[in-house]
Amino acid sequence: MERKICLIGGFATDWIKYSDYEYKNDSEGNLYITPMQEAGFSMYNPFNVAEDIIIDFLKVGNASKKYFKNKNEEAFEIVKKLTMLFVKKYGILGLISASTFNQNIIGDNEILIIEKNYINIKEKTMNSLEYMKLFTPFALPDDIQLKYYKNSIDLVKAEDSPKFYGKRPIVMDLIFSKFYSERLEWVMKFAGMLSEHFSQLLVYRDSTGHLTDDVTILADTFKANKIGFTINQLDKTYISWEFDSLKTTIETIYAFAVTDKNILLSCCEHCGDFYIALSNREKYCGPACRNRSNVQKSRLRKRELSDESLF
Ligand SMILES: [Zn+2]
Repeated sequence: MERKICLIGGFATDWIKYSDYEYKNDSEGNLYITPMQEAGFSMYNPFNVAEDIIIDFLKVGNASKKYFKNKNEEAFEIVKKLTMLFVKKYGILGLISASTFNQNIIGDNEILIIEKNYINIKEKTMNSLEYMKLFTPFALPDDIQLKYYKNSIDLVKAEDSPKFYGKRPIVMDLIFSKFYSERLEWVMKFAGMLSEHFSQLLVYRDSTGHLTDDVTILADTFKANKIGFTINQLDKTYISWEFDSLKTTIETIYAFAVTDKNILLSCCEHCGDFYIALSNREKYCGPACRNRSNVQKSRLRKRELSDESLF
């Protein structure tokens, strides 16, 4: 059997990542992650790397949780490193789109913010230009411009980056621009939540025999308000999912991963890494960890035996 998540349907649209990113402080000292000026972009399909994306993101989440607990410099450096690795592999989350009820924020006057957002906004509504500024702190006035026409609006960018000409919401033109940035703490909050959800799930999974009723694990966690789909025909008819962001894509892949009938998303008992197991008898991420753990156990047993013989 393959160690693959069974994703129902296909992913309709590609996501974009840049070849290099950097950390940069805005004028108020908030730490952002942003594409490097000279970086090039490439497209990929997140569904094709579903297993890697979920495992890599849970690593960021685990490290974030550790940092939230003891707030030391060393833990923060680990989060920074893992987040950078993640973003270089998969791109930025697209929280500008995932945090609103608006389908396409470009051209709307007022932004309706979802309650469970990771961008620290308590207000329910926000002015759209102010909202855009949160995600484009390093853009100069000429870098991104909104052009208003009689019946439409366009986003004009002073760079060569993907445009979808109405095939996708214009906000995607902004997310895939080099001027689009996200704060590290937003990414950490979302990743930390997912990792918390997963550790709760593992607790319940291990106590399955004792549960008599449905338990909702961390109720209200997922607010994927804008998942759309089309029905496509190739050799057979299939669902083609349309996501508003990489964040929603990750939530969806996670939901499929932890409910899959053939594989188990697991956490190695020896090294703590995430991996995909084929049954709950598999306790380690690979033969190396299984061997190391066995050696450790037999050493422990020997020590216990020799301790006993002292008496
Ligand atoms: Zn391991």
